[in-house]
Amino acid sequence: MKKIILLASAACCFAGLAASQTAVDPAEVARLSAEHPQWAKWLADPELAKLTLAGPKMPNSNWHVADIRRPQPVHVKTGSACSAPPPGDAEVLFDGKNLDKWTGDHFGEWTRKDGVLTTGGRVYNFLKTKQSYGDVQIHVEWKTPPQPNPPLNPQRRGNSGVFPMGLYEVQILDSYDTDTYPDGTAGSIYSQSPPLVNATRAPGVWQCYDIVFHPPHFSGDTVTTPARMTVIHNGVLVQDDTALIGATVHAKVAHYEPHAAELPLALQDHGNPESHVSFRNIWVRRLSPN
Ligand code: MG
Repeated sequence: MKKIILLASAACCFAGLAASQTAVDPAEVARLSAEHPQWAKWLADPELAKLTLAGPKMPNSNWHVADIRRPQPVHVKTGSACSAPPPGDAEVLFDGKNLDKWTGDHFGEWTRKDGVLTTGGRVYNFLKTKQSYGDVQIHVEWKTPPQPNPPLNPQRRGNSGVFPMGLYEVQILDSYDTDTYPDGTAGSIYSQSPPLVNATRAPGVWQCYDIVFHPPHFSGDTVTTPARMTVIHNGVLVQDDTALIGATVHAKVAHYEPHAAELPLALQDHGNPESHVSFRNIWVRRLSPN
């Protein structure tokens, strides 16, 4: 469990940048800020500019981790429906009535009101299932809050995440009308894989993730089969059996460390008091090992 906390916590914030990063080019900052005015405030912050312009190179890719220069996923409109009643063989993790299936170091900070679960927003933490899962189908409904004026830093707009095994993040974010680095937008596998398209709905509107997760397999300290994820966002395929390169980590290239065959599912509280994220109708189906 300690390893889970350490790895997952590394995905939280804008500190602790990787040693392999290179320097930011001021001329590039000026050019990008002129070409993309909505990025200017972000890029004016030296730490954020370093994060998104000088991260470590991704393996087998032309891009760096958290690289805002890579193409933004096309925004596609979706309908309003996606809520799915739990199938007969599902394990219901949250139906609005109680949090009996959950635990966490800051469990008491999450709130349940009118059938909705909401992040506390005070400190970075995870709500974790008491049960552990390996191969699993996950249904989660979530909602980000309306934006204040002026709007927040893009990574503080309704930032949360669904973490199969507490290690592998499908990013939750208000990505409706803003750019961020594509491997950190809604539907991304954080710091690894941008979504195929941006299917985000407006803040204040319920959205759905349907996730199929297959855990990695290890032989000793070596990963023999990577974790894989398929993600459907509001009925739209955004991750197509994506092979993961490791556990989620912020501003570094992910890598694997051996872990148990089954681990708890986790929801992220990013610790942003001005931007709580809400959840409802969460269920899972255990799948045969794949
Ligand atoms: Mg997140």
